[in-house]
Amino acid sequence: MSAALSASGQGARVTVIEGAPRLGRKILASGNGRCNLANAGEPRYYGEAAWALQVFSACPVTQVLAFFEELGLVAVEEAGGRIYPGCGQAAAVLDVLRAEIERRHIPVICEAPVAKLCQTSSGFRADTPKGSFAASRTIVACGGMAGGKLGHDGKAYQLLTGLGHTLIFPRPALTQIEAEKRAVKGLSGLRLPARLTLCEGKRPVSAAQGEVLFTDYGVSGVCAMQLSRDAEEMLAKGKQPTLYIDFSPMLGIIPRVYDRVPAQDPEKNLPAVRACIEKRRHILPPEGILTGLAPRLLSEKLRGLTAEQTARALAAYPVPITGVRGFEHAQVTSGGIACREFSPATLESSLCPGLYCAGEMLNVDGDCGGFNLQFAFATGILAGKHAAE
Ligand SMILES: Cc1cc2nc3c(=O)[nH]c(=O)nc-3n(C[C@H](O)[C@H](O)[C@H](O)COP(=O)(O)OP(=O)(O)OC[C@H]3O[C@@H](n4cnc5c(N)ncnc54)[C@H](O)[C@@H]3O)c2cc1C
Repeated sequence: MSAALSASGQGARVTVIEGAPRLGRKILASGNGRCNLANAGEPRYYGEAAWALQVFSACPVTQVLAFFEELGLVAVEEAGGRIYPGCGQAAAVLDVLRAEIERRHIPVICEAPVAKLCQTSSGFRADTPKGSFAASRTIVACGGMAGGKLGHDGKAYQLLTGLGHTLIFPRPALTQIEAEKRAVKGLSGLRLPARLTLCEGKRPVSAAQGEVLFTDYGVSGVCAMQLSRDAEEMLAKGKQPTLYIDFSPMLGIIPRVYDRVPAQDPEKNLPAVRACIEKRRHILPPEGILTGLAPRLLSEKLRGLTAEQTARALAAYPVPITGVRGFEHAQVTSGGIACREFSPATLESSLCPGLYCAGEMLNVDGDCGGFNLQFAFATGILAGKHAAE
């Protein structure tokens, strides 16, 4: 949609071909229904991240916000640079995009999944069940495989691999973590502030802090999802990742933070947690040492441990990771079409002039916090602008 509006703003005659019954369904599901549409902080991207930074030099967050302001959207910045519609409704983002598409009479052909994209003597031809569409230039922005029915099944990549582009194997990212059952047994449903460190053995790889949610299959919550990408990569390489959960934010030992944090020794806060437990030993009986400090499910899980074992469990509770949940549960795809085959300034293919690509389809994925939609909008704005030149 941003590509179509950007191209039409330059005077191009545009048609949008959409496989689903309606445009922009993923926007409605984003940000827990609030749509975290961009992030004003430091960019946090993976895959071809250096290429993504070049995209943001050509189309910074201010330009994405100006684009939305012109459409009438009021956006507000919250903690961590996260940008949301002021009214707190994802529908507001979709509404302004759709209203402008309608106002400019841009034809939208829905329920027309493109099965094949061919190069012709005059440009491109897209074959769909509703007929074939020809254009001198084309922008492919089919998204990724994440989000269950809101994503595609992988076939959309063939539109570009069929024209010579390379596909980097797609994997689910920003998804829940599956763990050894015994580690999480009895904790399902607990939501606690914690600091998570992903380790290979005891070597810290990455860390995030926020609310961790225990489930019957493992752990969820934004901070766990932030680490799923690294965990998946380690598992794919045959390594055994372990998540160490430090409950220090719950104990009031370290401040509550909701974001990525630097990876450090997973037992760094053990001395402070030990001192906290030691102090309580003088006022509480051993079986009630965590009363008033930790929720009942966690206290019961740790019941019977010595004071030292309790301190260790609260400072670095080990959760061996067995897997990450698939595309159905993921928020974004890591992998995708190789960015190096497209110009980061114009999004035009270097293999196939007149062909452009934008959004999650490309081999770039970002952290939680608005980074993925911002990348989709920025690449769309640039692709539309240059395809129309
Ligand atoms: C539950 C959930 C919550 C999320 N929350 C956030 C958030 O708050 N902030 C954030 O930054 N990111 C979030 N994301 C990620 C973000 O929504 C995506 O990265 C972003 O929508 C990608 O935009 P896109 O235009 O590339 O792809 P999409 O939004 O997926 O759009 C691609 C479109 O192409 C269509 N299509 C696919 N194949 C074909 C075909 N062959 N022919 C024609 N049309 C086709 C699809 O139907 C779809 O309408 C979330 C994702 C999920 C699943």
